[in-house]
This record gives sequence, C-alpha cells and structure tokens, in this order.
Amino acid sequence: MSLPPLIFDAHLDLAMNAIEWNRDLTRPLAEIRQREAHLRDKPDRGSGTVCLPELRRGRVAVCVATQIARLEHDAFSPVFGWRSPAQAWAMTQAQLAWYRAMEEAGEMFAIRDRAALDAHLAGWRDADDATAARLPVGYVRSLEGADSLITLAHLERAWADGLRAIGPAHYGPGVYAQGTNTEGPFPSRGLDLLREAERLGFILDVTHLSDACFWQAMELYRGPVWASHHNARALVPHQRQLADDQFRALVARGAVVGVCLDAWMMVPGWERGKSTPAAVGVTLATLADHIDHYCQLAGNARHVGLGSDLDGAFGTEQTPVGVDSIADLQDLPAMLRARGYAAADIDGIMHGNFLRFLRGALP
Ligand SMILES: [Zn+2]
Repeated sequence: MSLPPLIFDAHLDLAMNAIEWNRDLTRPLAEIRQREAHLRDKPDRGSGTVCLPELRRGRVAVCVATQIARLEHDAFSPVFGWRSPAQAWAMTQAQLAWYRAMEEAGEMFAIRDRAALDAHLAGWRDADDATAARLPVGYVRSLEGADSLITLAHLERAWADGLRAIGPAHYGPGVYAQGTNTEGPFPSRGLDLLREAERLGFILDVTHLSDACFWQAMELYRGPVWASHHNARALVPHQRQLADDQFRALVARGAVVGVCLDAWMMVPGWERGKSTPAAVGVTLATLADHIDHYCQLAGNARHVGLGSDLDGAFGTEQTPVGVDSIADLQDLPAMLRARGYAAADIDGIMHGNFLRFLRGALP
C-alpha cells in the first residue's frame, strides 16, 4: 500500500488562531469546537477545521504559518486594526512566542534554511500514520501585511528571528502597500521595504496587493516571488483573485501560486453569512477547477500548489462541502486523477512545486 502524498500548505494563520481566537491547537478538533461553541465573537466559532493533530492526520508535513497584525486606517472602519505600529508589532511578537512554545513542545519545527527543510522532510517522507501522529509540523514563517513593522530595522530583526516571507499588504490600505479592494501604487516607504526585503533575501508574497502594486512589485523585486493563497479571477471576478496575465507573469518568474478554500474566493456571487456551501454547490471539484485553469494557462502543472487559508477567520460555514477538517484535502488527489492528471503532477500540486521553489529560495 503506498502512502497518501505529503501536503504543503502555503497559507495558515495558526498563531492568530492560538492568540487572538484563544484556540489550543494542540487539542483535538472536536474539543476545540466544543469549548468555544457558546461564543459569538468570531464568524467561525465552533466550526474551525484546523489544529495540529488534524494537520498530522492529513500529512501536512510543512506549511507557511503567518504572523499577522494590521493597523486601523480609519477610526470608523468596522474592520479591526491596532491604533499604533507598536501595538501591532507586540501582537506579532506574541504570535512568535507561541510558535516558539510549539517548537519547544515538539509540536512544530521551524524551517529557516534548505538544510532544515530537507532534514525535516526526511522524517516525514515514509512515515505511516502512527509515526506521522508524533512528528512535528514544519513551518516557514511569513508576515501577512507589513503594518506591524515599526521601522525597516524591525524587518532585519524579523529575518534574524527566522521570518522568511513577507506580504506587504492585507485587506484595504496599508502602511507599506495598497491591499485587496484598493487601487494605487506603493508609497515611497513601501519601495524602501521592497529594497530591504530583497537585500535580506525574503520571499515576496504578492497575495493581497492592489493590481498597481502587483505590477510594480513584479517589475522592481528581483528576489523570489510567490502568491501564497490566490484563486483565479477568470472564475471568480474580483480584484482579490489573480488575473490571467498576472498568473502568466508569475509563471515567467518561476513562481508557485497556492489555491485557497475560502468559499467566497472559489465561486462567484458568494454572500457572506447568507450563502451556504451546500446551496451553492462548492466542493473540492470547484478547487480543482481553479487548479486546472492555472495549469492550462501555464501549459504544465508546475506552478500550482495549495495555500488553503482554512483557518483564516472562517470555518465549515464557508468551506467546500466535504471539507470538515484540513485532513480532507487528501480527497483532492483522486479528483485530479479522475481529470487525467499524472501521479507526478498530483504530487507537484500537493507538495512538490512549493518544495522545489523553497529549495531555490531559502538560504
Ligand atoms: Zn489572506
């Protein structure tokens, strides 16, 4: 019996869930859901799909795990944001402290360079379920949105602490870049950030950039570039998704794009809090449509991976039918096989493409 493929997930907000959502991710999923079932402060209370035991059960050997804290840009905005960069920085440091505690407990393993990546994978490669249940989940740390960087010296400090990827923007306007739902180019301090990130050796994550910032970044940034969690705009017409010409430009740079499982980014016309996965009919086949669209554009299956975003402030109320846990990503290979994808291509999508990229991009 051959083992199911390993999974590389290019986008999870694990520490945000641990610190801001107060989830003990070392516990079983059913217990996490039960303990918060009475809460109404977040949209995904009682319906989360991610915890460390489920990552292991799904053979998610490596993920990209974020630090995330945004600034409030408009006092009347309904979107939460910190009132000062110092507060946002402090939140990212609390998140970092949690990752460190998970490392000390043997729950997670920090990957900062190629040697650590290969050593970690050697343990996972032939692990059966019983062995995998005891292995740490490897993670590459990424900063989603750069608002929390008080100065560029903080970026250098973060690199020294093991941060390896940075996405300058999140939703809305940002300190260093314009994000999702906005227009316009980088402000001058954003251009300084790009230069400094390139000097230090960061992977630049173009997910969440405005279209103008996207094209500017592609022109100016000479380091490695990826799009960690980004579906196809041709299938879901919204600026949050990648247009075909943007995807082609990423392919020309050797990038890998992670497809994500937030229902509103998978099907057009999703209404938050109103639409349901079953009524809309969003399934893993819908995700396969995005994968297939990208592979047809590229002419091969080497530039697509998974960036599930499954703990990005939504749960089963907004995941595809059949995805009750992140471990259900293991249903994807059979679906791709049925569409005629070769075994090597499926392995590439499940983990190989991002791992190849990382081997080239990490120090
Ligand atoms: Zn995001």
